[in-house]
Amino acid sequence: SDNLFETFAARMQVRGEATFIATRDGHGYTYRQALARSAQLAGALKALGVTPGDRVAVQVDKSPETILLYLACLRLGGIYLPLNTGYTAEEIRYFLGDAEPALFVCRPDDREVARRVADDTGCPQVATLGTRADGSLLEQAEQAAPLETVEPREADDLAAILYTSGTTGRSKGAMLTHRNLASNAASLVEAWRFSEVDRLIHALPIFHTHGLFVACNVVLMAGASLLFLPRFDVDTIIEELPRGTTMMGVPTFYTRLLQDARLTAELTANMRLFTSGSAPLTAETHQAFEQRTGHAILERYGMTETNMNTSNPYDGERIAGTVGMPLPGVEIRVTDRDTHQPLAQGEIGMLEVRGPNVFIGYWRMPEKTREELLEDGFFVTGDLAMVDERGYVHIVGRDKDLVISGGYNVYPKEVEQVIDELDGVVESAVIGVAHPDFGEGVTAVVVREPGAEIDEARVLASLTGRLAKYKQPKRVFFADSLPRNTMGKVQKNQLRQQYQDTYA
Ligand code: ATP
Ligand code: MG
Repeated sequence: SDNLFETFAARMQVRGEATFIATRDGHGYTYRQALARSAQLAGALKALGVTPGDRVAVQVDKSPETILLYLACLRLGGIYLPLNTGYTAEEIRYFLGDAEPALFVCRPDDREVARRVADDTGCPQVATLGTRADGSLLEQAEQAAPLETVEPREADDLAAILYTSGTTGRSKGAMLTHRNLASNAASLVEAWRFSEVDRLIHALPIFHTHGLFVACNVVLMAGASLLFLPRFDVDTIIEELPRGTTMMGVPTFYTRLLQDARLTAELTANMRLFTSGSAPLTAETHQAFEQRTGHAILERYGMTETNMNTSNPYDGERIAGTVGMPLPGVEIRVTDRDTHQPLAQGEIGMLEVRGPNVFIGYWRMPEKTREELLEDGFFVTGDLAMVDERGYVHIVGRDKDLVISGGYNVYPKEVEQVIDELDGVVESAVIGVAHPDFGEGVTAVVVREPGAEIDEARVLASLTGRLAKYKQPKRVFFADSLPRNTMGKVQKNQLRQQYQDTYA
């Protein structure tokens, strides 16, 4: 059948005593152990009443067993549905009500609240999973008869529902099939040259596509090893870099490593590949990292709904500030935002993608699905992009972050780049705020270097002559830091709200 787990299991069998997951406290799994434990967990899921096609909602802290639970869920033909560990009980109520899972797996400490929310939303079972190989689910796994068989699945059957990050509004449940996940993992193994000798330093959360599918599916498919860290911590990463071969990161991983003098070429001599995604990596960070370590970070672009779409080349030139070219089998086009008509090469427009990686729709949102998943199979990403003469894709920003001031399009990234170059500026975010004359007023929020003297007048003065008048901010505000979520994405929604009355 097309159950993704069959592909994994075949690989896992061959890898036997090789390490699948290692942790710093020595509590890891060989491939053989992982296969056995996932069979036990699948037995526990079955005993709890989970049947093929059921959703299994999971909100637990990162642990190797969480990955084994994901595998168990696939084996049983269930639909894995991970939830951000930061969600409150109220938010969980929404997600359980929306997804109607057969089982909710929560942290041991959340048990009481989870039961109440499960009762209220009609979720029949709650189990717990802790980070020290504890919790009721593992106890049940010890007792249950292991499920040694693999439930047959078609390529178009659902393997997972992943909620989007909620950067632009309420999170949407992306329905991902076995084909979506299998095709993308296979492409990435090839594109990034993953093999059995790789040891991936894993410091990402595992409720997003990046840390779960990009990292874990690729490692499983290649038969490589994961070094599982609970979170990103500079000291730990610095200790582990000499033992790793590769790391997948969000841009903030790299900016924070660069702040540490211990990051050197020597420290990273054993590493063969650093990748970055989930948010834009600035060309400045890319260049600084290469200067310091000799490694050109490989930036790629993807999203919950599509897995990975484009990647800079492993061999060819990795161009800073670009997300590379479409992966094999992925088609892209840049279109007019309103008509979906393709634009000429070099123009900025809506990025649309099509391929075996693209999801089949939003869970219980048929209208939203129709709007964004076009009849010809292209998915409207919501990101504005430009393809250069060499075929490299430049992500210009989100369509929803585009500022329209006095009828002119202002791309925030262009303005941010100019502000970021000013002396005394760490970083900036440019947003559109309601303005009585211009529709939206270009507004900048700037983070200063400690002790820097730069103020609003100085920023404005230094933009004169460097940016067309209509692109220049009408106001500049200062903040200690930009609001970011766990994936390092700047929460522009929050900023727009905070400054909404600026021109009122
Ligand atoms: P929501 O869809 O709920 O508003 P979200 O789009 O942030 O949230 P994700 O699916 O986690 O949810 O993120 C995908 C988005 O992340 C992309 O659409 C793109 O805007 C951004 N992104 C990912 N990789 C890159 C990259 N390399 N450069 C720039 N942006 C990126
Ligand atoms: Mg999105």
